[in-house]
Amino acid sequence: MPFEPKRVMFEQDALSYPLGRKLFDEFKDRDVEIAMLKSHNKVSGIPGKTPAQAFGEGKNTLVVGIRRTLKFESCKPSAHYQLPLVTGCSGMCTYCYLNTQLGKKPYIRVYVNVDEILEQCSKYIQEREPDITFFEGAATSDPIPVEPYTGSLRRTIEFFGQQPLGRFRFVTKFTDVDGLLGAEHNGHTTIRFSINADSVIQKYEHRTARLAERVAAAKKVMDSGYPIGFIIAPVMLFDNWKAEYEEALQELQRQLASHSSKEIHFEVISHRFTARAKQNINEVFPENDLPMNEEERKYKYGQFGYGKYVYHKEQLADMEEFFRKRLTEIFPNAVIDYVI
Ligand code: SF4
Repeated sequence: MPFEPKRVMFEQDALSYPLGRKLFDEFKDRDVEIAMLKSHNKVSGIPGKTPAQAFGEGKNTLVVGIRRTLKFESCKPSAHYQLPLVTGCSGMCTYCYLNTQLGKKPYIRVYVNVDEILEQCSKYIQEREPDITFFEGAATSDPIPVEPYTGSLRRTIEFFGQQPLGRFRFVTKFTDVDGLLGAEHNGHTTIRFSINADSVIQKYEHRTARLAERVAAAKKVMDSGYPIGFIIAPVMLFDNWKAEYEEALQELQRQLASHSSKEIHFEVISHRFTARAKQNINEVFPENDLPMNEEERKYKYGQFGYGKYVYHKEQLADMEEFFRKRLTEIFPNAVIDYVI
């Protein structure tokens, strides 16, 4: 399900790049609003009066621009640098980690100066020689829904395929991976799928793919030789959670049977929230029933003054035992990076 934007906004200069031109040609004859932006810094003209409308209209907007700053942000602990190809995401997950970062109208922006971005990667790789440098492609986005339009991930994957000392990784809740199959990745790109119990997906991960579809996409990229991993998150410890997560693990077992002896990485993350995220979620999704009752959680002081509400120690121990046991039973060579 590639992203179908309602409006596409172009920075004028983006049209002087082949990808900017291609995107313009692609969208100009479609039934979408096209607008030219006067200034790079100001994306104006997205409607929306209430927080929920503003949010929804932002999510339906694609901005085609140029990445001006080529100083990449660091991305500890999972990688050395964020690799900016896309910011934002067309999904509307209630608990999205981007909801507090992208402003009131969280549009999706793609960058057309991919050559310059990749050149910058080469420089960072050289600086760290002879060590390997890792780049994360999903630090501020889910890059998959726009991939059918841009092809930028495939180019990046093939670029890293040629880099003895560069590695690329990204994570997705989407399935538009066909354009990545057959790319010369040389095992240098790891694709991770973020998954959850299907009931949680249906309830909270609006406009993303269902569990079985994500696992089918994971199988395709495994068939194409990519190293892969799964992030099981956020794990919700509701009544009957074990049965529903067991069901999800069995979906993996069913579809990935032919790959069960491969090394697959797993990261398992329990649900947590901050006071700020809760406030934001309640503004944008006033009807949500996400379990965010502070009294049922333990307050954990955070590094930067932002404390989090997490599950209690005994609940987390139970969760950890369940996932470690079942994952290693199903995938004998599973590597469980962490359960938190
Ligand atoms: S798919 Fe990921 S990035 Fe997109 S809305 Fe959901 S949590 Fe956010």
